[in-house]
Amino acid sequence: MHPENTAQSAADSPAVHPPEHTAAHTTQQPEHLGLPVRNPATGAVLDRVRDHSAEEAAAMVDAAQAGFRTWRATAPRHRSEVLMAAYRGMQEQAERLRDLIVAENGKSKADAAAEVSYAAEFFRWYAEEAVRTPGEYTEAPAGGVRNVVTRHPVGVAVLITPWNFPAAMATRKIGPALASGCSVLLKPASETPLTAFAIAEILTEAGVPEGVVQVAASSSASRVVSAWLADDRVRKLSFTGSTGVGRRLLAQCAERVVNTSMELGGNAPFIVTADADVDAAVDGAMLAKFRNGGQACTAANRFYVHQDVLGEFTEKFGARIAALRVGDPAGGAEIGPVITEQAAEQIRELIRGAREQGAVIAAEAHLPQDLNRAFLAPTLLTGVPTDAEILREEIFGPVAPVVAWTDLDAVIELANAAEVGLAGYVYAGKLQAAMKIAERLEVGMVGVNRGIVSDPSAPFGGVKQAGIGREGGRFGMEEFTEVQYLSVDWP
Ligand code: NAD
Repeated sequence: MHPENTAQSAADSPAVHPPEHTAAHTTQQPEHLGLPVRNPATGAVLDRVRDHSAEEAAAMVDAAQAGFRTWRATAPRHRSEVLMAAYRGMQEQAERLRDLIVAENGKSKADAAAEVSYAAEFFRWYAEEAVRTPGEYTEAPAGGVRNVVTRHPVGVAVLITPWNFPAAMATRKIGPALASGCSVLLKPASETPLTAFAIAEILTEAGVPEGVVQVAASSSASRVVSAWLADDRVRKLSFTGSTGVGRRLLAQCAERVVNTSMELGGNAPFIVTADADVDAAVDGAMLAKFRNGGQACTAANRFYVHQDVLGEFTEKFGARIAALRVGDPAGGAEIGPVITEQAAEQIRELIRGAREQGAVIAAEAHLPQDLNRAFLAPTLLTGVPTDAEILREEIFGPVAPVVAWTDLDAVIELANAAEVGLAGYVYAGKLQAAMKIAERLEVGMVGVNRGIVSDPSAPFGGVKQAGIGREGGRFGMEEFTEVQYLSVDWP
């Protein structure tokens, strides 16, 4: 829902200098000093960053190409050691990064700390992967020829990341890109560039040479990204964001047939069967729905609960939701604001629409009066009709719509009706039954009796309009390499 609008406005506003201040530092500088970064919980300007022009962006490609030449010539072991040093750097600066994320994104301290640790793990994982360079050496079937197959870094890579995981979405791309020998041009979301600059500093301190990692924030995403994608030396786009923006970028990449990886929107179903352990399902539902205040592409968006356990599930889930503490995350609240007041308004609109169609608010957390309009009360909606807009759109906020079911085939059909297929969740009493349901879901990842799927060692990504390619695990390396085969005469 929000992403296309937000993207458009974020995409077309003007960028100055890398930030020099930490999250705690707020400034009252005039507008012309750069792109302001705001704390969504308070509205305060945290810092200003350079608002890059198209010319500045274009010049960055020269440095990226020079950086690529240097970096690809280094030994895999060297790249591995640099990434491992960056992993340690992130651990050493974990608290600073956590506070930066809380300030510019608005998620809770616990969620931000978990993100920093998850994000750092990508550097560790890809430090370990950097030295695994599998290839093939085979005899051609007709004989007389040897096939030698190797992988090479794709080249200068453009990385575009969203605001919902400002650290992890960057390291999930930078890790495999650097391990493979690519140089990168990173455009973080205009709402959350400070974390990206802090990670770039850590990489520099870890020994990444000049030109290999460059970051450009911009009030006009399209201005910077178009300048990059127009340059023949840019050979890769790795994008994480909404399906709408992803579609436009795919069209742009078609012009020069740029290699793309697309991590796009989600609309995860969460299925609970009649014999599921309801307490475990509620624990999983809390994690799948309220991690990051519901602003995750893997967030459970549609709860399909078997009629036999509906009463118990909604009562227990409702009690947990009502107990959530909403407020400024810097003060320790569990649920902070959503990213902007505009995003909150769109979610309120989805709730209004569902209620007009007969949905009922079964539980709601307390929303303190002194908070701004970006805060929403975590809400449980029951009796949601299966055609409600709230079930078709990515809610991206702390609202849990529940639908009762009795027929398994019908509920799987409903779950698969979404045009995106990123994540899904299944809770069932018998593991094999849960896995059989999971295998029928048209999604890239399923939490089987688990409320979380993200893991640096596993392939993250979706099917249908949720994207192309995978990040994480050994799959992440493949996205930043090209296969070359040598046909060797072997008389
Ligand atoms: P968004 O698509 O609005 O923006 C993502 C990034 O693209 C930002 O850096 C933005 O500045 C940039 N951008 C916007 N318009 C652009 C343009 N015309 N040209 C080039 N770049 C442009 O998404 P968002 O609101 O930041 O993030 C939320 C969305 O991201 C949700 O849909 C969510 O599901 C998705 N997401 C997906 C994953 C995944 O791994 N599949 C992970 C996190 C978030």
